[in-house]
Amino acid sequence: MAQLSDDCFAFGGELLGVDAAIALIEARISPVVDQEIVPLAAAAGRILARDLVARIDVPPHANSAVDGFAIVHADVHSEGDTVLPVTGRAAAGHPLGRIVGRGEAIRIFTGAPMPQGADTVMMQEDCVVEGDRVRLKPGIRQGANRRHAGEDVARGALALAAGRRLKPADLGLAAALGNDTVPVFRPLRVALLSTGDEVCEPGAPLAPGAIYDANRVMLAALLRGLGCAVSDLGIRPDRAAALADTLAAASAGHDLIVTSGGVSTGDEDHVRTAIEKLGRLDFWRLAIKPGRPVALGQVRGVPLVGLPGNPVAAALTFAILARPLILRLSGASIAPPLSFPVAAGFSYRKKQGRREYLRATLARENGTVVARKYPKDGAGILSSIVQSDGFVILDESVSDFVSGTIVDFLPFSEVFGS
Ligand code: AMP
Ligand code: MG
Repeated sequence: MAQLSDDCFAFGGELLGVDAAIALIEARISPVVDQEIVPLAAAAGRILARDLVARIDVPPHANSAVDGFAIVHADVHSEGDTVLPVTGRAAAGHPLGRIVGRGEAIRIFTGAPMPQGADTVMMQEDCVVEGDRVRLKPGIRQGANRRHAGEDVARGALALAAGRRLKPADLGLAAALGNDTVPVFRPLRVALLSTGDEVCEPGAPLAPGAIYDANRVMLAALLRGLGCAVSDLGIRPDRAAALADTLAAASAGHDLIVTSGGVSTGDEDHVRTAIEKLGRLDFWRLAIKPGRPVALGQVRGVPLVGLPGNPVAAALTFAILARPLILRLSGASIAPPLSFPVAAGFSYRKKQGRREYLRATLARENGTVVARKYPKDGAGILSSIVQSDGFVILDESVSDFVSGTIVDFLPFSEVFGS
């Protein structure tokens, strides 16, 4: 198991751009999870730990793509019909078993190995059977309806790259290559807790001044979506000593600790005090809006991500920073989330130099896709995510713009899924 260096989250600057933050994660963080071999049938959603190289060709043999007649193309007259005797049969799983010579037609079915010597298959719809002979139309291309061995994956080729989260089609491909097991990374074990004296468990009566914990259930679902095994440590009060005990205990048996709340610079920021007692804490102030600093540290060698308490800020910083960090710790490769251009259905005033993430829905208007901004922006307005489809990302260089300007749209599915 890889160990992170003590100062892997150290960062001297004031404000950190999103791209620079992701580059730092890629450069400094390595997978911390061991590998295990699992049955292919249980591998959906797991992260492939080693490159899967094809040991055979897929398909393993040249075969017919249709039901019809396998022929030697040179036998087909270029003008007028050709009549050939039907001299054999090849079905899927039942090869002809001999070499085809000139002047023969072999009855063949989809998936049947191409008989050696034949190079073309005439679809049965283009043939007329006349007793034990078959009449072929002119004009077929040489090699038509023949699938080559290895045309899907050639032996020796990289079929699936390490770091990939295995999707259903990946399992199909691994199976087509003959694998019944795959090497995957063990799930990242994550301890999750909320902090705050005011934060209260849903279902319990709400005391004066209290609020229900919105973050924990949301973050647990996001973590599970990334394949993590989550330990729910509940809600912890704003007491540094108690928090330190909780974090110290969590550092045993977990690969990562995720907290929310208590990490800004106010007096009531006890997570910070607690971590500084146990290990090291760095703050990454991302140049984003909405954005609060995210605390990154280590508790007895176990990395910790301290997300802001406001639910929108927690979700956004999870998407931007925690997600790539978690993917990296989990052994997954980090593909940049795919955003696409849409027309802004609103005008906007923006300061240059930071990246803004507006919540927006998509609609079709006169044949174009338009992003409509959610009217309330506050970092505590979780409805802005619930009622939206994704983020409009306004890059550092963008300033004020008018409705109709092309902006970048990032669907939530890109960052709030796997
Ligand atoms: P903090 O980051 O602790 O300063 O909290 C910032 C804001 O987020 C405060 O209004 C908190 O009450 C709120 N908050 C903190 N944790 C949660 C939580 N788990 N669920 C909902 N709101 C929270
Ligand atoms: Mg708090």
